[in-house]
Amino acid sequence: MTARAFQIASTIVGTLFAACASLAIAAEKGVTVRAPVAPAEASVVATDMRIGGDDKQTRFVVDLNRKIDLVAFTLADPYRVVVDLPQTTFTLPAKAGEQARGLVKAFRYGLIMQGGSRIVLDTKGPVRLEKAFVLDSAEAQPARLVLDLIATDRTSFMRNIALVNRPSHSTSIKPSEAPPKADGDARPLIVLDPGHGGIDNGTKGSGGELEKDVVLAFAQTLREKLESGGKYRVAMTRSDDTFIPLAERVRFARSRNAGLFISVHADALPRREGQAEGATVYTLSENASDAEAARLAEAENKADVIAGVDLTTEPDDVANILVDLAQRETKTFSMQFARTLVGELKAAARLHKHPLKSAGFKVLLAPDVPSVLLELGYMSTKDDLKQLTSAAWRARTAQALAQAVDSFFTPRVAGAGAGGGRN
Ligand SMILES: [Zn+2]
Repeated sequence: MTARAFQIASTIVGTLFAACASLAIAAEKGVTVRAPVAPAEASVVATDMRIGGDDKQTRFVVDLNRKIDLVAFTLADPYRVVVDLPQTTFTLPAKAGEQARGLVKAFRYGLIMQGGSRIVLDTKGPVRLEKAFVLDSAEAQPARLVLDLIATDRTSFMRNIALVNRPSHSTSIKPSEAPPKADGDARPLIVLDPGHGGIDNGTKGSGGELEKDVVLAFAQTLREKLESGGKYRVAMTRSDDTFIPLAERVRFARSRNAGLFISVHADALPRREGQAEGATVYTLSENASDAEAARLAEAENKADVIAGVDLTTEPDDVANILVDLAQRETKTFSMQFARTLVGELKAAARLHKHPLKSAGFKVLLAPDVPSVLLELGYMSTKDDLKQLTSAAWRARTAQALAQAVDSFFTPRVAGAGAGGGRN
């Protein structure tokens, strides 16, 4: 069966499941992800993997505890092969994904949404997905997922993408949290956005600590702090280890009329670039405030590429938002909150030597929701990492953040103009 025929077959199976399963995810214009939905069977476990072959033809094999359905497709720029599976627990050897062999440069795996996992292979060049199938277990052999990749040229590769990657049989990743009930609750809504998640680990600490875990723990602490005061409603773009595309995070805040959006991250510097420490607060700007801010925005904006999201169906409005004048007021509010936040953090946490910066972060693009991106510190710096993983530090820093939120939403005294509280 060709890859194309295979995908159609898998999609039909996937669609049937999706129609009846509660895990079904409504199709929506925007970020496209194909996900076979797991039937109610035993959970899937990937236990081992192998890569064989050369620069012309490469076979990628993953051992599984049982047979599953999969959907496989390719993406360009950079060249990737994406395999969507039902939710799978990966117990692969450490550093398995760093193996380079034949046409495969490296690969990643993890949760892409509730009920769905994904493997993304970075390939050395354009490849054709010759075969993608799962063999049932037989004679003491485990079930096996098999991908056969063949080197091809860019023209054929792009033609194949145009043929196969049709949004008509796709589903969309949704945030892991259902919209809150309106209930006429007039309290401002604060959206907390823990970066990365699922297949996208973010940066890494020296002991294997992952940014996605550090920022989720922090956001949860912050949520408790904010909710305990009773003055705000709080929603999180993710409250578990799920991947959420950047545009979906923005949509999440906008569709709920959030009064404030706080994206939480933890940076890391490559060893050769030396050391840096402390927290930095970023706002959106077309031109980065300095080279480091530009580097960081580029790294953070890669999240969707890392997760193998097909961005060809992204609506254009996001790209055009930067020039929208209506955003000016929001920018002013964002800056105001960023300054307040730096002021409050000073007492509680270590700050970067230039703690207030700006760059073109995709996750800050909401034209109508004041948004900041907080880098809590550096996973690559020993002292920072110690703090980032400490519950006491989390509590202290979340308290400072809650104070900044309070000042932002507390209306200024008469005569202070349009500054201060929204909502
Ligand atoms: Zn990040």
